[in-house]
Amino acid sequence: MTQVLVIAEHAHGKLNAATAKCVTAASSLAGAEIVVAVFAVPGSPVAAQAAQIAGVARVLEVAHAANEHALAATIAPQVAEVAAPFSHVFGPSTTFGKDLMPRVAALLDTAQISDVMSIESATRFRRPIYAGNAITTVEAAAGAKIVATIRIASFEAAAGAGTAKIEVISPQAALPTHTKFVELVAAGGDRPDLQSASKVISGGRALASADAFKIIYGLADKIGAAVGASRAAVDAGYVPSDMQVGQTGKIIAPELYIAIGISGAIQHLTGIKDARTIVAINKDAEAPIFEVADIGIVGDLFTIVPELEKLIDASRK
Ligand SMILES: Cc1cc2nc3c(=O)[nH]c(=O)nc-3n(C[C@H](O)[C@H](O)[C@H](O)COP(=O)(O)OP(=O)(O)OC[C@H]3O[C@@H](n4cnc5c(N)ncnc54)[C@H](O)[C@@H]3O)c2cc1C
Repeated sequence: MTQVLVIAEHAHGKLNAATAKCVTAASSLAGAEIVVAVFAVPGSPVAAQAAQIAGVARVLEVAHAANEHALAATIAPQVAEVAAPFSHVFGPSTTFGKDLMPRVAALLDTAQISDVMSIESATRFRRPIYAGNAITTVEAAAGAKIVATIRIASFEAAAGAGTAKIEVISPQAALPTHTKFVELVAAGGDRPDLQSASKVISGGRALASADAFKIIYGLADKIGAAVGASRAAVDAGYVPSDMQVGQTGKIIAPELYIAIGISGAIQHLTGIKDARTIVAINKDAEAPIFEVADIGIVGDLFTIVPELEKLIDASRK
């Protein structure tokens, strides 16, 4: 039987939707038995949430005080230990997964398959290359343990009606002491997570300063959207790099994507091509973003965004 271990991503006691997307990916392996591993502190509510994902056979709650903060250096040896009986180990291609999974692959002495967007068989996977402009098929050696990151923009989250059993285990692996948690500086604060949010609003170079970028946060807060940015906005220091959307940033697939003052360079579009509806606000009617936008608004963002806010407020009265 194909035994798949899915590494859960979570923060502040809440399971990230990326985990249910990895479960969907795993379920496309014929005859897969899917086990979710939750690396958490004892008593964390996350395992119970993972147990509700449909299609999950078991949840392993790997309880260790060191798992209070998700540090790749300390979680990787635990994953390598837990992974022993599994043929496949999947993690999300989020910041968390990209940090953790290569270490897991190295500890298991295997090569990682990155950004899996579809699964053809237990050893054959499809993944994007050249910024998503070409798709390659990758064949892993038969018999090797497969460690992969799953491109979460390519999979819907599995439903939440499961009732998997939870097994609490204590890792025996020696954990490194050279890495310790100091501080978490979260780019988005309390806002929805950029990679799993259903609505995302991004700002570009047109915002011209970190202070002016606040207009994007204001609109995002009104509709409960996550906030992203173009690379130009990141490079100019208006926002942290964790917020970059695109080829060298985050690949996202929200229901609604609003690009404000973003030209629509190919490297940016690579990150948003799976978005369901794209809205663009740009003062240049010839901007390439309008070629991919479902709804385009031509005009000055500093006029249009406040007008949109007023319309939202009025519609809620
Ligand atoms: C290898 C490589 C990787 C890259 N990876 C990424 C990536 O991951 N993500 C990414 O975004 N880019 C990436 N880039 C950079 C990309 O090529 C563009 O330079 C970048 O996306 C441009 O950002 P921008 O649209 O904010 O800025 P600009 O291209 O300068 O566009 C600003 C837009 O704002 C409009 N505007 C100006 N003022 C206003 C106003 N007041 N109201 C309304 N509209 C206004 C302008 O008409 C213009 O269209 C990469 C480039 C390379 C070479």
